[in-house]
Amino acid sequence: MEKKQSDNILSLHGDEKKKKVFRSIIKELFPVELLIKIDEISRQHDIDNNSKTPEIIELLHQYNVPFEPLGNGTNRYGILVNGYVVKIALDRMGKIDNQREFKYSKMLYPSVVKVYECATTGLVATFEYVTIFTLDDFYSYQEEMRPILREISENFLVGDIGISTDNYVNWGIRNDESICILDFAYIYSLSYKGFKCTCEDEGTLQFDNDFVFLKCPMCGKKWSFSDIRKRISKADEINEIGDISKIGYILHKSEEILVENPEFSPHDFKKPKKNRKDKHNNHKGHTVTYDTSEEGQKNALEKLNNIMEEYKNEQEKKTHGKQNCKSRRSFGGIK
Ligand SMILES: [Zn+2]
Repeated sequence: MEKKQSDNILSLHGDEKKKKVFRSIIKELFPVELLIKIDEISRQHDIDNNSKTPEIIELLHQYNVPFEPLGNGTNRYGILVNGYVVKIALDRMGKIDNQREFKYSKMLYPSVVKVYECATTGLVATFEYVTIFTLDDFYSYQEEMRPILREISENFLVGDIGISTDNYVNWGIRNDESICILDFAYIYSLSYKGFKCTCEDEGTLQFDNDFVFLKCPMCGKKWSFSDIRKRISKADEINEIGDISKIGYILHKSEEILVENPEFSPHDFKKPKKNRKDKHNNHKGHTVTYDTSEEGQKNALEKLNNIMEEYKNEQEKKTHGKQNCKSRRSFGGIK
C-alpha cells in the first residue's frame, strides 16, 4: 500500500503539498481480531441477518467498543460510535452497500450523508449522523425532497428513496435543518449502464414524478426499482464500484498525517448550502479507506489474516518484551 500513498503525493505539485491529520474511528476502535470475527459472521450462510446481530453486539462489548445500537437494515447493522454512525455489513450485499455509499457520497453530498471511511472490503464504514425522518417530517418536507431527487436522478438511478411512505426512514435532518438521504445503497450510475426496457424499442426507463416507479416511454411498461435491480448481475455490481482504495486516503493507524489530495474530497456535484453547521465534521469532508484487501470481496479473510500476521510481527519487533496495550490495538501501533 506504500505505492498508493506515494502515487497520491506525486499527483500534487511541489509547493502546493498540504499535509493534514486524518483520523480513523475504525482503526481506533475496531482491532483487526474484531474485524476478522465480524467478517466470519458476515460469511455465515446458515443463519439469517437478524440472528447475526446479537453475535455482533456480543463481540462489540467483548472488544470494548463504546456504541449505542441504531438498528438493523436489510444487510447491515447500524451503531452510533462517538457521534458517528458505523454500518456493519451482515452479508456480502451489506459490504457492497457500504462500498457503494462510500463511492457515491463524494458526488452526492450534501444531498446524502457524508461517508468518512470504509474498509476496502466494505465490512464496516463510518457515516455522518443525522436524525431520521418521522412520518410528520416526511409530509412536511416533500417539496424539498423533490428537487433533490430530480437532481440526483439526472445522473443516477436510486431506489427506495422516492416520495413514498415506504421510504421516509431513508431520509434525515441535520442540525442546521437541511435534509438529506441517509440510506442510498441502491444507487447505480447511469453513465455505467443505461437502464433500458426489455421491449423491442429498448426505451430508456424514466422515473415517475415521485421517483418511486419507472416507466418505459416507448411501450409504457411500469417497472419497480426491485424489478430492475434483479437484472443487475453480481459481476456488474462489483465492476461498477471498482477498487475503492483508489478513491480515498489509506490509513495504517488511527491517526496519520498525509498529503492532501483534492480528488478525495467531495466533488462539486451540488454546492453546499451556506451556514451549514456540521458538528460531527471532524474529517473536513475527506474520506478514508484502508487496506484490508486489494481485490474487493475476494480473499478478504485471507488478507485480513495477513494483516494480522504483519501486525503481530510489528508489535513483537516494537515492544521487545514491553507490555502490549490489551484493549486498544490497531494495525500500526497507537500514538
Ligand atoms: Zn418498453
